[in-house]
Amino acid sequence: MKKYKEKLDKLNETRTCSFCKKNEEETPGLIEHHLVPKSIGGTDEDGRILLCKNHHERLYRQMVSKIFYFIPREKQQSCRDWIIDWTMAQTKNGNKK
Ligand SMILES: [Zn+2]
Repeated sequence: MKKYKEKLDKLNETRTCSFCKKNEEETPGLIEHHLVPKSIGGTDEDGRILLCKNHHERLYRQMVSKIFYFIPREKQQSCRDWIIDWTMAQTKNGNKK
């Protein structure tokens, strides 16, 4: 099991935005975001996180400006791990010890 999957499970224990921790009531319309976008070959295997509309939009915009804009399409596949790390780094850790 990949390291980030444990954190992913924690995040997905609750139906809240993985970034701001708001729930469906506070921010209606939570979106399931593929950690690796399907457009570059991501699958359900890679994992998904829930995001509110705001954060989903922001994440997508950042991804476009950081990755898709600079890296040729045929090379984007090789950025998968980096994209996962980067996305996970922005989530709020669900486990409060
Ligand atoms: Zn959010």
